[in-house]
Amino acid sequence: MTDEDRQLQRRARTFADEELIPYEVEAELNDGRLPDDVVDRHRKLARELGFGAISMPKELGGEGLTMFQQAIVQEQIGRVTNGLGWVVHTPPAWLAGVATPHQITTWVEPTVRGERVECYAITEEGAGSDVGAISATVRRDGDEYVLDGEKWHVTSANLADHVFFQGVLTEGEHAGAQALVVVDMDAPGVRVVRTPRYSHTLADHHPILAFEGVRVPEANRIGAEGDGMRFVYEWFRYERLMIAARCCGAAERLIEEATEFAKQRVAFGRPIADYQAVQFMLADSLAELWAARLMTYETAREMDAGADEKTQHAQCSLAKLYASEMANRVADRAVQIFGGRGYMRENVAERFFRELRVERIWEGTSEIQRLIVADQLGKRGTAPIVG
Ligand SMILES: Cc1cc2nc3c(=O)[nH]c(=O)nc-3n(C[C@H](O)[C@H](O)[C@H](O)COP(=O)(O)OP(=O)(O)OC[C@H]3O[C@@H](n4cnc5c(N)ncnc54)[C@H](O)[C@@H]3O)c2cc1C
Repeated sequence: MTDEDRQLQRRARTFADEELIPYEVEAELNDGRLPDDVVDRHRKLARELGFGAISMPKELGGEGLTMFQQAIVQEQIGRVTNGLGWVVHTPPAWLAGVATPHQITTWVEPTVRGERVECYAITEEGAGSDVGAISATVRRDGDEYVLDGEKWHVTSANLADHVFFQGVLTEGEHAGAQALVVVDMDAPGVRVVRTPRYSHTLADHHPILAFEGVRVPEANRIGAEGDGMRFVYEWFRYERLMIAARCCGAAERLIEEATEFAKQRVAFGRPIADYQAVQFMLADSLAELWAARLMTYETAREMDAGADEKTQHAQCSLAKLYASEMANRVADRAVQIFGGRGYMRENVAERFFRELRVERIWEGTSEIQRLIVADQLGKRGTAPIVG
C-alpha cells in the first residue's frame, strides 16, 4: 500500500469503529432504524472524510477511487453490522460511461451528491440466478415504454426515489432481449405489494414491487435497446469484489473480538484462550481471512491494471465465493467461542452470524460463482485466472 492508501484505510477504520459501531445495538433493537439526526451526521461525516460516492469519477462529483482503494474502504466498512456502513455510497460506476447528458443531470449527479437514492429491480419470483428467465416486460408505445412485471427483494426501495427496472423487450428488432430503464418511484403504476421481513435488521427493506402499465419516456432507457444484460455483468463483477472486501472486514472484527473475549473468559480455572480447541478455531479463522484478503486485494489490483474482462469475471467470483464462505465459517466459530453470549442480539457474533448468510446468496449464489469459475477453468485453464 502507498502512504495514501494507508491513510485512507485508517480513516475508514476510525469512521467504522468510532462513529458507526457504537450505534449497532441501538439499530438492532429498533428495527434497524436510528434517529434522523444520527443518520444525517453519519452521511455528512462520510462525505467529509472522502467516502461519498467512492465508486464514481471525479468529473461527476465522486471520489474517483481506484478499485484497490475502494476495496480497502469497503473492507473497513464491512466491520459494521446492521447496514450502518451503507452511508458509504457506491452508485454503479458503469452508468457514467453510458448515461446520456439528461440522465447524468437528472439521476446520476444528484445521486452522487447524496440528494437522490436508487434501487435495483431485476430479480423476480420465478427468476433469480437465471437472470435470462425474467418475465417483466418493456413494451414500446410511440416514444414511450410501458413496463409491466413484479420484482422481488428490491433492496432500499423504501428509501429510494428511483429504481432501475430490468425487463424483456416485447417488440422491435431487439424483441426478446433485455432493457434497463430508470423509473421514478412515484410514477403511476409503481406499487409496493408487500414488505417481507428478512434475517438481518436493517433500515433498508427489500419489498416486492409491482409495475403495472408504468409509462416512461424513451429517454429513461439506459444504453442501447437490448443492452440490458451487459450492464448486469459489469455490475456483478464490482459488487462481488466489494462483498469479498466487506466479508474480510467482518471476519477481522469477529476474530479480534473473539480473541479478546477468549483471553478474558475463565473456565475451569483458566482463560479459554489457553485451550487448544479455542486456539484452533481462532488460528483457522486468521489463516482463512488472510487468504481471502490476498485474493481480494490481488483481484482489485488486476482490475486497476486492466486485466481482461473474463479474467476479472472469474477472479471476482473466486474472491466472492471464498470470502463469503470464509466469513460465515468465522462467524460460526465466533458464536461458539462467545458461548451463550454469542446467541444474544447485542453480541456482534450473533448479528454477523445472521447478516453474513446473505453474502452467499445475493449478487450470485455460491453455486453460481462455482459455475462461473468452472466454466472459465474448462475454457482457459488455470494460468489466465490464478497466474
Ligand atoms: C436480502 C436480499 C436482497 C436482495 N436485493 C436484491 C436487489 O436489490 N435487486 C434484485 O434484483 N435482487 C435482489 N436480491 C435477489 C438475489 O440476487 C437473489 O436472491 C439471488 O440471485 C438468488 O436468486 P433466487 O433467490 O431466485 O434463488 P434461485 O435462483 O431460485 O436459486 C435457489 C437455489 O438453487 C441454486 N441454483 C440455481 N441454479 C443453479 C445451478 N445452475 N446449479 C446449481 N445450483 C443452482 C442456487 O444456488 C440456490 O441455492 C436480493 C436477495 C436478498 C436475499
